[in-house]
Amino acid sequence: MMRVYFIGTGGGAPSKRGLPAYLVRRDGFSVLMDCGEGTQITMIRNSLNIMNVNVIAITHLHADHVLGLPSLIQTMGMYDRREKLYILGPEGLKDLLNETFERTYFAPSFPIEFVSSYESPSITVRPFKTCHVVPSQGYLVEEKDTANLDAERLRREGVNDWRVMRALKEGKEVAWEGRVLKPEDYLVVKRGIRIGYTGDTRPCESVINSVKGVDLLLHDSTFEHGVDASEYGHSTSTQAATVAREAGVKRLALIHISSRYRDTSEMLKQARRIFPMSFIPDDLSFLSLRA
Ligand SMILES: [Zn+2]
Ligand SMILES: [Zn+2]
Repeated sequence: MMRVYFIGTGGGAPSKRGLPAYLVRRDGFSVLMDCGEGTQITMIRNSLNIMNVNVIAITHLHADHVLGLPSLIQTMGMYDRREKLYILGPEGLKDLLNETFERTYFAPSFPIEFVSSYESPSITVRPFKTCHVVPSQGYLVEEKDTANLDAERLRREGVNDWRVMRALKEGKEVAWEGRVLKPEDYLVVKRGIRIGYTGDTRPCESVINSVKGVDLLLHDSTFEHGVDASEYGHSTSTQAATVAREAGVKRLALIHISSRYRDTSEMLKQARRIFPMSFIPDDLSFLSLRA
């Protein structure tokens, strides 16, 4: 099971909605995507433990997506973090952080590793190209597929030797009572959950190709239909919904909502006309996803 916390669903200037920050959690493992100003305050006040964040993925260096990061890292240092923090982001992020640390007389007490992608035994975080007005990238957070033995079938066929079962689970063929058991016949693959996050983007071919079939897409939906959003490197709700439909995703979260919209019902209606599984998350709401 993966859970997405919508920490800040606004964009540009803060309003009732905070600046961009999304936390993906799985089994105590956390990935924070973007870190607008105020992110650590919102997290701490709402019992989202900042010390549990393992990976931080920044989409681009516009202030609303990154200015909360230096202070978040400094607080981790104050709390005496020791565990390594992995950071993904566009070129310049490392310099921005190092310069801020130096100018604010801060030296992290824990290792920080800047990586282009991240992989653990259960999860991967990979960037993909987006189309904004400055260098930018979105992220795919993917749970790995797991394969379990088809216990029912093994029982039916009377296979009860644990060594045979172990070999099948390891993907090996096994000779057993005069026949050959093939692993593909006895393994049930459980597909991992996949989540895509665009950060700021115009409707973009590379996004459509990268997020094909994800369980949840968080897509820029800064404006309502009718605004020329692409001039600013953003999307309207209609455009976000069209991307979701073309990419065949399962659900669409409309995010980075401009502070000009207090009432988002019209924006949601526009998106649902094109992609019915659209929703607009509130700050501090969350969504649990199961395979
Ligand atoms: Zn933004
Ligand atoms: Zn931006």
